[in-house]
Amino acid sequence: MTDIVTALAETIGEKSVVTDHDIVSSYLTDWTGRFRGEAFCVVRPVNSKQVRDTVDLAKRFDVPLVAQGGNTGLVGGATPVKKAIILSTKLLSGIELDHDLQLAKVGAGVTLSALNAEAQKAGLKLGVDLASRDSATVGGMVATNAGGIHVIRYGGMRRQVLGIEAVLGNGRLISRMEGLEKDNSGFDWPSILCGSEGTLGVITQLTLKLVSVPRHRAVALVALHTLSAALAVMTEARRRLGGLSAMEFMTSNGIELVSNLDGAPWPFNNIPSISLLVEAAGEDDQMEKLAYFLDSLEDVVDAVMAGDSAADGLWYWRESHTLAISRKGVARKLDVSIPIRAIPAFVDDLTHLLENDYQQVKPILFGHLGDGNIHVNLLDVAEGDTGIEHRIYKMVSTYGGSISAEHGIGRAKVNELALTRSQDDIESMKSVKSALDPASVLNPGVLFV
Ligand SMILES: Cc1cc2nc3c(=O)[nH]c(=O)nc-3n(C[C@H](O)[C@H](O)[C@H](O)COP(=O)(O)OP(=O)(O)OC[C@H]3O[C@@H](n4cnc5c(N)ncnc54)[C@H](O)[C@@H]3O)c2cc1C
Repeated sequence: MTDIVTALAETIGEKSVVTDHDIVSSYLTDWTGRFRGEAFCVVRPVNSKQVRDTVDLAKRFDVPLVAQGGNTGLVGGATPVKKAIILSTKLLSGIELDHDLQLAKVGAGVTLSALNAEAQKAGLKLGVDLASRDSATVGGMVATNAGGIHVIRYGGMRRQVLGIEAVLGNGRLISRMEGLEKDNSGFDWPSILCGSEGTLGVITQLTLKLVSVPRHRAVALVALHTLSAALAVMTEARRRLGGLSAMEFMTSNGIELVSNLDGAPWPFNNIPSISLLVEAAGEDDQMEKLAYFLDSLEDVVDAVMAGDSAADGLWYWRESHTLAISRKGVARKLDVSIPIRAIPAFVDDLTHLLENDYQQVKPILFGHLGDGNIHVNLLDVAEGDTGIEHRIYKMVSTYGGSISAEHGIGRAKVNELALTRSQDDIESMKSVKSALDPASVLNPGVLFV
């Protein structure tokens, strides 16, 4: 009997099916190093027809199929739970810009940096930006509904998608690539597939909205004593800082780790409890506006500013967090959101929990303060300890927060979904899954148990 690998090679061509052990194994571990999987082969389709053929064969042979873009996801969603075919989207390429309408038709495997490099020639960019931009693909970003550093200004990935093409788990190809601002003819596929983490369909192409690159920007790194002071800065910035485009917070543990990378000298004499990164962007010079805004604040301990290209030097402190943490070990990564007013109380409760019951654990908290999104990274958790995350997620649910602000559920949080979703809600999501992927070949074990 023909096996799945032979059938794939016969149908979509040997060139598109990779079985070399070394190459295949480079797809089998997630970015954090926490999750590993097994695969029969890696398939690298170059068009939607090959994707469709791959999905059909996965169904026929009853083999799981896992879509993988840049493999930068932080919840293990692109790493197979059971032995699978990995469908790498990297060759689903192509960027077609409409400068006047500020739209891009893009292959799902295009990285964010590649899209922006092309868009920038016309003074445009995607409104969503993340530190993983050089590897993260637009297909993966839609599949995870990525957030990033400019949600406060442009919203998350869902708000950037005007059109989508995808092969659903039932083998059907849906294509709505026209990029219509208004189109209420039935269910909205971009919304349904956004955040579906490869469980409903393989996204092959997208029509994305672009935004103008602001001519000027200014960034301030602000030293503060408390999170409450940071929230006060945020409230004021939302009210009075017209060009506000990012509001990120960091804590002393994280700044210490980034300092150890020796990439740049820390600009203050001491490392404060809370550092806030505030960015303003617009058509006119932003430095004066930002300086005037900072001068008017009461609780600022210290601040430095940089404008335009020099601003990247200050972003370094925020963007190097994930790398600096990974250099220290395999962290437990919790990406939660908390109603904004409750953030200081939540962080106090979390600190007490760790001080009382997990003294050896080193927490590194940072995130997108403007969206109530805290990345809780825990280093030195005892191997096999599964209770710590559950206790924190329970705490998140009592605050009315979310156990996944922007990274998704993946494999990492699959057993925690019921903490913040009712049984009716989960069963209804499962009904959508079985309608679109009746044989459950797409990413089994991700999102749902
Ligand atoms: C340094 C660093 C910083 C990060 N910062 C942020 C941040 O600020 N905000 C944020 O939201 N995330 C962030 N991330 C997480 C990650 O970059 C995002 O989740 C990103 O959207 C994943 O894109 P990817 O192409 O790497 O997807 P992958 O990791 O390959 O896949 C992620 C999920 O999407 C599915 N998938 C991938 N491609 C497709 C497709 N074409 N069709 C259907 N399903 C697909 C996979 O099956 C998997 O479930 C960061 C990661 C790193 C390493």
